[in-house]
Amino acid sequence: MNNTPDTSLKEIDSKPIKNTKSFSDFNLHENIQKALKKIDYTTPTPIQEQTIHLALENHDIIGAAQTGTGKTAAFILPVINKLLNNPQDKALVLAPTRELATQIMDFVYKLINKREINKKTDNLKTALLIGGMSMHLQLRQIKANARLIVGTPGRVYDHLTQKHSPLKLDRVTSFVLDEADRMLDMGFSVQIDAISEFLPKNKQMLMFSATMPPKLNNLTKNYMNNPKHVEIKATNKTRIKIKESHIKVSEKNKYEKLMEEL
Ligand code: AMP
Repeated sequence: MNNTPDTSLKEIDSKPIKNTKSFSDFNLHENIQKALKKIDYTTPTPIQEQTIHLALENHDIIGAAQTGTGKTAAFILPVINKLLNNPQDKALVLAPTRELATQIMDFVYKLINKREINKKTDNLKTALLIGGMSMHLQLRQIKANARLIVGTPGRVYDHLTQKHSPLKLDRVTSFVLDEADRMLDMGFSVQIDAISEFLPKNKQMLMFSATMPPKLNNLTKNYMNNPKHVEIKATNKTRIKIKESHIKVSEKNKYEKLMEEL
């Protein structure tokens, strides 16, 4: 797989905030810096370059960026940074599909598996709350005090509305909506509103979307606080080249490998 990002700033439509050359220019926790080195992330992509600075300053962010631009790391790195620096904090990341939620968690595990970020000593336990997987296993992850929760709106809402649910979101200080336009197209606005009722008012919100349809305005108006806008128009240069491959697995085993790691 060729993961080399093209970071040529000339190709970006919106102006970079700062001419960052390397991940070490960000004020990221040293364990994150070490993990990034181990996975060969040296140069931030344009969306990472623009987003990470702002997110570390605790701004709310609306990011217009497509898959393939490196947006996952753009939001997950500042989210993990906050969790490492604030041991009581939690983070909630919502994605429209099981596949996308799983990909996000895959990236989290890519970092954690390098052992620079320690699941135990850094108390970085996770829960992947997606449909089609056992509620029982997910409840175990929640009860083990998962602080980084990634899921789909439907399943997260199901957990929250169970009788005596152990899922508590009152300590969430980072709330991420990935592919927000798709979530609204899929009719998840009801669940997003309902989930938001369980979140504290005072939190950082990061919203990413490939398109910015007017119906997103409700989300930004209702939940965001003076958000900064970051836009990367994906050109052939700004999109990271991804080689696709396919592996046939049964429906039952689709998420098994990842769940074994959690
Ligand atoms: P995403 O747009 O977040 O789905 O990322 C697309 C692909 O680019 C994934 O395979 C990432 O692992 C990879 N990637 C993202 N950012 C970087 C980076 N700064 N350096 C190297 N690879 C990256």
